[in-house]
Amino acid sequence: MRVTVIGSGYVGLVTGACLADVGNDVLCLDVDPAKIALLEAGGICIYEPGLDEIIKRNVEAGRLRFTTDVRRAVEFGTLQLIAVGTPADEDGSADLQYVLGAARNVGKYMNDYKVVVDKSTVPVGTAAKVNAVILAELERRGLEIEFSVVSNPEFLKEGGAIDDFMRPDRIVIGSDDQNAIHIMRTLYAPFQRKHDRLLIMDTRSAELTKYAANAMLATRISFMNELALLSEKLGTDIELIRQGIGSDLRIGWHFLYPGCGYGGSCFPKDIQALLRTAAGVGEELKVLAAVDQANERQKSVLVDKVVARFGEDLTGRRFALWGLSFKPDTDDMREAPSRVIIAALLRLGACVVAYDPAAIDESRRIFGGGDDRLSYADYPMVALDGADALIIVTEWKEFRSPDFQTIKAKLKTPIIFDGRNIFDLHDDGLKGIEYFGIGRVSGM
Ligand code: NAD
Repeated sequence: MRVTVIGSGYVGLVTGACLADVGNDVLCLDVDPAKIALLEAGGICIYEPGLDEIIKRNVEAGRLRFTTDVRRAVEFGTLQLIAVGTPADEDGSADLQYVLGAARNVGKYMNDYKVVVDKSTVPVGTAAKVNAVILAELERRGLEIEFSVVSNPEFLKEGGAIDDFMRPDRIVIGSDDQNAIHIMRTLYAPFQRKHDRLLIMDTRSAELTKYAANAMLATRISFMNELALLSEKLGTDIELIRQGIGSDLRIGWHFLYPGCGYGGSCFPKDIQALLRTAAGVGEELKVLAAVDQANERQKSVLVDKVVARFGEDLTGRRFALWGLSFKPDTDDMREAPSRVIIAALLRLGACVVAYDPAAIDESRRIFGGGDDRLSYADYPMVALDGADALIIVTEWKEFRSPDFQTIKAKLKTPIIFDGRNIFDLHDDGLKGIEYFGIGRVSGM
């Protein structure tokens, strides 16, 4: 099939590359010429394990191309997959300007039948808006061309995006057009060989399904984070409680990890957007509002622990910080707790030496070179030199089994603030280290 992917960010690139990998002809469009130039030169603008090989393989096979030429892109694909950003507007609602801009372009240049597929996360009712925008463009051109708008929200997670796309738990298709559904079924057939994972529903339900999924996952995290705060007060260990409840099949293990707050490009903005959607129809989502508030508080928990240990004035203090990305296996720092933590430490007068396997460039871009109290180390252990303590913000695998002797030798005082509970409290290596986790009694 000929597929155009509109927007070549995390979702667009992964979608385009995976669809090309199963034999489709894919053209990825972006409005950012630098992004496309980099892709055409064999580079890639994001860090996602396995993605560069798939892109390379399919570019070489001639199945995957990139362009900034809107007309060419619209003319190319029978399928027009919209995967542009839907950032939060000032009031928290989803900003649809990019989605509707992409739809307008489709209406402006289409000359034959198109299935316009919304992969971006969009509020209920957006498919109808996309439909109206395309119709208006066609009317303006004096043309009557058949098309169908399908809602097909994306559930991939950064860091595991390829696997998620290639082996999805489910594929949600919102449409009542049998021809479009048939095309979508054909598109996704290679990704569901063991059994049918397609869930066909109306567009509005499909749109809400995506928000509901993210809201549920965020709720589990905030619930555990609150229990962790309680656990600390009661002198219990949240990790034992996590195991105690996760083993209940009705609860399960996923998204039960307490930490220093969730971040990323999706949960925070999608929760805000869902709250706005609910408010718009006079419904107050009390649980979800609390999920969001609890997360905001949680992002400060590590700094609170630092202040409790070192005092309000951190002038002259130096902290090693491991992990900048909002989660492992990505360089994405959108809404990352590290941003709040670094800003707070600098505000309180401290110096921060950060290490991250993938996100240092992104951090430099975000924080700029304005404050020389924030610097970066090329290796995790180098960040520790002369630091007062180590703060762990992201649970990258490489942090899980460090040489504790070296940590003790390099830190001025052997103190670890572990925002992700990556160590076993009974690990011999922690002996002689003042250890502050989340929701567990600090040890020595
Ligand atoms: P992104 O910011 O990484 O990429 C969006 C891209 O779209 C950018 O490169 C931008 O330049 C481009 N763009 C904007 N307007 C355009 C236009 N008119 N034509 C062509 N390109 C255009 O965003 P993302 O993280 O890939 O997210 C895209 C959507 O998918 C969002 O709605 C997001 O909520 C949703 N989503 C994201 C994830 C994730 O993990 N990142 C997962 C599931 C769903």
